[in-house]
Order: sequence, then C-alpha cells, then structure tokens
Amino acid sequence: MNYLEVEVYLKRTDNPNGANQWVLPECPYCGQTHWHGAGSPGEDLKIGQQGSRNPHCVIAGKTSGDPDYSLIWRGKYWEEYKKVIKNER
Ligand SMILES: [Zn+2]
Repeated sequence: MNYLEVEVYLKRTDNPNGANQWVLPECPYCGQTHWHGAGSPGEDLKIGQQGSRNPHCVIAGKTSGDPDYSLIWRGKYWEEYKKVIKNER
C-alpha cells in the first residue's frame, strides 16, 4: 500500500525520561498540527522514511478515521520551523 508522504519536524525532548516527537505542522486531512512519538532522547534518528502512522484526526469532536500517512524527515527541527513562521508574519 502506498501512503501519502508528509514532511515532519523533529522536536527533541529536554526530559531524560521523555520522548522525542515528530511534528506535522499542517495535516493534509484536517489542517491541524499532529505530534507523533520519535523515540527516546538519545535515539539516533536518520534522515528519510520514519514509517507510517495514523493521523488520529479529530473533526467536530469525532475521530475522522483518515488513512495512515508516511512520515518523512529531511533533517529539520521544529524550533527552526517555528522561527521561520514567526519571521514571515
Ligand atoms: Zn489530521
């Protein structure tokens, strides 16, 4: 099965017991920001495919049941993404 590919940004956790997160700024199905687990703090994450996930979109208070998408990481960080957005405004 071919999944829709979406670019995600890495948010590394500051908490040694926490988890890194993949951030999808704008979901192609619902337009919301989605967060997905990206492993423990010391995890060696490689650029490229990060596997498929379910978006768990909630529209009007209900889970929409949208199909999985495939996460792609191009080495960009969530902090940088947020900075760019701020500067454009
Ligand atoms: Zn969504």
